[in-house]
Amino acid sequence: MMRKHNFSAGPAAIPGPVLERAQAELLDWNQRGLSIMEMSHRSKEFIGVAQKAESDLRTLLEIPDNYKVLFLQGGATSQFAMIPLNLAAAGQKTAYIETGMWSSKAIVEAKRYSNVQVVASSAARDYLSVPAQTEINLDAEMAYLHYASNETVGGLSFDYVPQTGSVPLVADMSSDILSKRIDVSQFGMIYAGAQKNIGPAGLTVVIIRQELLGKAQPIIPKMYDYHVHALADSMSNTPPTFAWYLSGLVFEWLLQQGGVEAIEKINRRKAAKLYQVIDGSGFYYNKIAVANRSIMNLPFNIVDSELDAKFLQQSTEAGLLNLKGHKAVGGMRASIYNAVSEKSVDALVDFMRDFESRYG
Ligand SMILES: *Cc1c(COP(=O)(O)O)cnc(C)c1O
Repeated sequence: MMRKHNFSAGPAAIPGPVLERAQAELLDWNQRGLSIMEMSHRSKEFIGVAQKAESDLRTLLEIPDNYKVLFLQGGATSQFAMIPLNLAAAGQKTAYIETGMWSSKAIVEAKRYSNVQVVASSAARDYLSVPAQTEINLDAEMAYLHYASNETVGGLSFDYVPQTGSVPLVADMSSDILSKRIDVSQFGMIYAGAQKNIGPAGLTVVIIRQELLGKAQPIIPKMYDYHVHALADSMSNTPPTFAWYLSGLVFEWLLQQGGVEAIEKINRRKAAKLYQVIDGSGFYYNKIAVANRSIMNLPFNIVDSELDAKFLQQSTEAGLLNLKGHKAVGGMRASIYNAVSEKSVDALVDFMRDFESRYG
């Protein structure tokens, strides 16, 4: 068996040692004679797995005690509706920063449940940089400010945390959670679909300050109410047990790597190598403002876009998978999440140099 280099944007690469451990435990977890996914979520075995995953995540992100960690379903996309339904009163103003595809989708959904104000946008500059703090026009009566810290499609990333005074800050970190250090206390809520930088699809992690719970609009479906999940330790109904377990293995793996600080260093080195190839040639390009370039999702183009198809075909043949850009933007995109090794990035760098030497 040969594992190839996987640059998928999501569902994305999972660390090899985690998959091996899951494989070893698949039929018979801890000598119980059954697999983890065949156990009751209310068994003491599974509750142990669930609590360990939460406590490791708390360690990795240094999550303060006044925050709840929820393990939900529905993806990041469900949060687009859950956030206004939980955090805004009916008709209350909510604030959004628009920086690309995902933040725009969050805006469209939130408009169904709240009075959305787009308080800053980089649409007019083609989403090539993020709005500056001084461009954000917040009012103290707004329920929260929402932004996407890393736009997965555009490869655009905030190089600062918006300051919001008394207005809670809500961040979609689906594609950059655990990639670099953050100060959780600056956020009212952080959320992420697991399938990019955490684990398998099917799990959504929500980290929310306790004082924001219990204020949901009365019409909210019970399964959309964060308070319901917080009171039940995310077991109000059956949680995605296997995805929770596997994410827990990823958290253990991350701790073994030295935690978020150590992985951030590796991530920055990996991204720098790729941007160096892109910038160092007249052959490839990436137009994002240097300060706002993502270290997780690196879109790039070939000046002669006629070569895209050849690039994608030959890279696939060379064992470099899933480099096609999002259909909305075309070109190429390398997603280099925590689980994508530096060796995979080196293989891509070598391929890009070689391709340029043959077609440049
Ligand atoms: C992938 C992604 C989403 C959507 O996630 P789902 O889990 O598929 O709903 C939302 N926001 C960002 C930033 C993403 O990368």
